[in-house]
Amino acid sequence: MSPTTTDVAIVGAGIWGLAADHFLQRLAPHAQVRLFEAGLRAGGAISTIRQGDFLFEPGPNSLLDNSPELRRLLEDTGLAAQVVAARPEAAKNRFIVRGGRLRPLPMSPPGLLTSDLFSLGAKLRLAREPFVRRAAADAEETLAQFVLRRLGREFLDYAVDPFVSGTFAGVPDELCVRSAFRRLWELEQTHGSLIRGAIHKARERKKAAIASGDDDGAPAVQAGPSGKMLTFADGLQRLVATLAEPLGDRLATGLSLRSVRRTGEAFELHFDGETGRKIVTATNLLLTLPAHAYAEVDFDFDIPTQALGDIPYPPVIAVFFGYNKHPIADPTAGFGFLVPRVEQRRILGTLWNSSAYPGRAPEGGAAFTTYIGGRRQPEITEWEDDRLIEAVRDELQQLMGIESTPDEIILRRWPRAIPQYVMGHRTAMSTIDALEEAQPGLHIGGNFRGGISVGDCVSRAHETAQRIGARLARSTGR
Ligand SMILES: Cc1cc2nc3c(=O)[nH]c(=O)nc-3n(C[C@H](O)[C@H](O)[C@H](O)COP(=O)(O)OP(=O)(O)OC[C@H]3O[C@@H](n4cnc5c(N)ncnc54)[C@H](O)[C@@H]3O)c2cc1C
Repeated sequence: MSPTTTDVAIVGAGIWGLAADHFLQRLAPHAQVRLFEAGLRAGGAISTIRQGDFLFEPGPNSLLDNSPELRRLLEDTGLAAQVVAARPEAAKNRFIVRGGRLRPLPMSPPGLLTSDLFSLGAKLRLAREPFVRRAAADAEETLAQFVLRRLGREFLDYAVDPFVSGTFAGVPDELCVRSAFRRLWELEQTHGSLIRGAIHKARERKKAAIASGDDDGAPAVQAGPSGKMLTFADGLQRLVATLAEPLGDRLATGLSLRSVRRTGEAFELHFDGETGRKIVTATNLLLTLPAHAYAEVDFDFDIPTQALGDIPYPPVIAVFFGYNKHPIADPTAGFGFLVPRVEQRRILGTLWNSSAYPGRAPEGGAAFTTYIGGRRQPEITEWEDDRLIEAVRDELQQLMGIESTPDEIILRRWPRAIPQYVMGHRTAMSTIDALEEAQPGLHIGGNFRGGISVGDCVSRAHETAQRIGARLARSTGR
């Protein structure tokens, strides 16, 4: 079997691998870049299921427009003209369950004052935040320790805990604040206070928006995520399909990486697939596999298998309910709701897809996606489908008053959903830095490194593409 030779082999065609390829095509147009993917399609966690007039996103539902590299990728590909922003009233209205009822998450300082989500004591505690002493730069804290110290128990329970289960499917007492929420950690380090830091950042953003003529008149200080929530009319599959489309035979699917050998300056890769084996020789190798997948690949040089294998990936189940007729007589517009752990319910939260974006359900109908499990309740994900569906129906009946039976139900299991940046993550990542140092030409990407959001993946992929481009330029003189 004669090996295929390439300048760059990218293994894993999720958003990380696809974005790295996209940027490399621009940075090093003469280089040969090939992608190898174990699945039968490109996109990894990103996919969209259309069922009649319903649209279900089993993985990510929205892009947060706060990454300059993601914006650039959308512009390069012409996708910027196709993005659909969340409806303004939906983007503004998010709910948190407290005492078995949905309560609006305050999105501005005046909203916080009148909010019934937090007690007066919690609001007074929040007012003390600017006077709380900053932690030493080398202190290692969990997110829970950090939030308790700065903002108090109620803010941890009713704002941060649900937010963390809605993003990481994680729990605040495991995640390392500096690794998982670096921007938050930096706010404290730079400004000595989250509130002062947030005001400073919001003013900077507002000034920039006014200068660029992009100001939408919204108040500078908001509690919600900065940046718009975006998708496409036909779902996020559009993003990965657009990146994969020009690849042609540079993308090989159905091939699992089995072993990697160092051969002088290059790497020899062995893949297994249903149609046989493949050998590839590459001078640059970018691996974008999930951390747990490294245990199944045989390397002839040392890799930190233990550190990679120790990164937890909790299970999550996404349950889609579609209704031809809206099941609530007078629905509130909103993005959805999240459930704090202290509320002890069987779901993590529900996205109101058809309220947030157009085209998710038939005219007059509704679409909701409910998430179950995560690090909080992994045992529930072992339930049979019927029991899970019944639990979701019951929760939506109690919390949203939905009585009717959904017309469409789709359930998607993620046995290992999202990497958790737990305590010790930075040490694990420094072993990866050392591996890259020891093996010139090897690059390790993937969402366990540098951020889990699609925007973070694209930003990190861009940085890596720049490094590979510079290395190629050095070796070819171009
Ligand atoms: C349920 C869920 C909801 C989410 N919601 C959001 C959201 O709303 N917004 C947001 O920004 N982010 C969200 N995320 C996070 C985001 O989707 C992911 O972090 C991101 O898509 C990961 O991209 P990736 O390329 O690093 O990994 P992946 O998408 O996992 O891609 C890795 C690829 O490597 C391939 N692979 C694995 N092993 C091998 C092998 N041995 N050989 C060859 N190929 C291999 C896999 O098949 C896969 O295609 C969500 C994630 C999940 C699971």
